[in-house]
Amino acid sequence: MLDAAKLIFPGGVNSPVRAMRQVGLEPLFVSSAKGPYLYDVQGREYVDFIGAWGPMILGHAHPAVVDAVCQQAQKGLSYGISSPLELELGELVQSFFPSMQMMRFVNSGTEATMSAIRLAKGITGRQKIIKFQGCYHGHVDALLVSAGSGLLTFSSPSSEGIDPDLAKKTLVAEYNDLNSVATLFAEHPNEIATIIVEPIAGNMNMILPEPGFLQGLRQLCDTNGALLIFDEVMSGFRVAPGGAQEIYQVEPDLMALGKVIGGGMPAAAYGGRKEYMEKISPLGSVYQAGTMSGNPLAMACGIATLNVLKSLDYQDLEKRTEQFLSAWQTIAKESGCPMSYCVKGGMFGFVLDANYPTNFSQVSQLSSSRFGNFYRKAFSAGLYFAPSLFEAGFLSFAHQASVLDLCLERLAFLLQTDLE
Ligand SMILES: *Cc1c(COP(=O)(O)O)cnc(C)c1O
Repeated sequence: MLDAAKLIFPGGVNSPVRAMRQVGLEPLFVSSAKGPYLYDVQGREYVDFIGAWGPMILGHAHPAVVDAVCQQAQKGLSYGISSPLELELGELVQSFFPSMQMMRFVNSGTEATMSAIRLAKGITGRQKIIKFQGCYHGHVDALLVSAGSGLLTFSSPSSEGIDPDLAKKTLVAEYNDLNSVATLFAEHPNEIATIIVEPIAGNMNMILPEPGFLQGLRQLCDTNGALLIFDEVMSGFRVAPGGAQEIYQVEPDLMALGKVIGGGMPAAAYGGRKEYMEKISPLGSVYQAGTMSGNPLAMACGIATLNVLKSLDYQDLEKRTEQFLSAWQTIAKESGCPMSYCVKGGMFGFVLDANYPTNFSQVSQLSSSRFGNFYRKAFSAGLYFAPSLFEAGFLSFAHQASVLDLCLERLAFLLQTDLE
């Protein structure tokens, strides 16, 4: 199957991290998934610690969600016209995110951040943006940029095919370093439209904002007339019902949501302050559209997911996640393999090092060969973690303590052998 796939898809895959190259493995082909488990085409079972990169917070194939999708499918797959489902999901989203005063549904996190940035540029009439080293906001041209050679003011495209002149308009700052942001505002007065940030970062492993960091960004935006965009595509409905903004009590001007919002189907949203969203066409002159936007199957799937989530206890999920990581750390310590971790809600990060990183450069210095050795052992033991040092992990509400205990037994076994 892999050979055939390699003939028609680059690397055999439709999204690069699935190729599992960073850990020296071949792509996995899945035939089904249920609760906390994935089953590959050979019938092997894996405990899934990624959950489709975030959406599957209820576990795979949750009965209420599957039922809602099947029922909607009987009524038509796509209308390209408004349906009551959009209103229902929109109001549900507002009940989780009160600062989402007005929103627009799109199909992917990439579309959501791209549109939010276009809007921020439209509102401010400015062309430059600030992002952080190690934050990922989808494959938007202006956002596939990283700081060049340690100089924060010079950024270069992190992919071929991106206009270097566009990349120069994306200024890159260091996560958890307000000075690096203040410097950029000072160097580019009245030119910066917006700061886009993952308020809990999940694309450079998992990095929490240090106390005062998000508040500081809010202030810097306010004093400099720029808009603050929270990219909560990953953290939304995941670290807490109302995302990182609920935990840290900082309100963005605009936000992007994705992943959990569609419950496993392609849906995402951007929005925020009403007076800003009224600048979107047809009300305003910032254009954004989509044939599939508000797709009824995706809406039904999102509605069913959020309705189940409303009655679930995130503190309980966080406690289970914390207990799992902490027990793993104890086992690792006993085996002489250092490990440290980070947890919020159903999201976690781990590194095979005694010190937990606080920014991208620290994550980059971690040993990828040690991670690869650990990864391959865990994978053969049926534990499916994100196949990269730079990704976060997820527990779902379906990861019961009994499942996790079994995983800990396997971890204890595989950590007996040397990771170097
Ligand atoms: C996954 C992700 C995106 C991109 O979402 P897609 O649906 O893959 O386009 C954007 N921002 C963050 C923080 C993400 O984790």
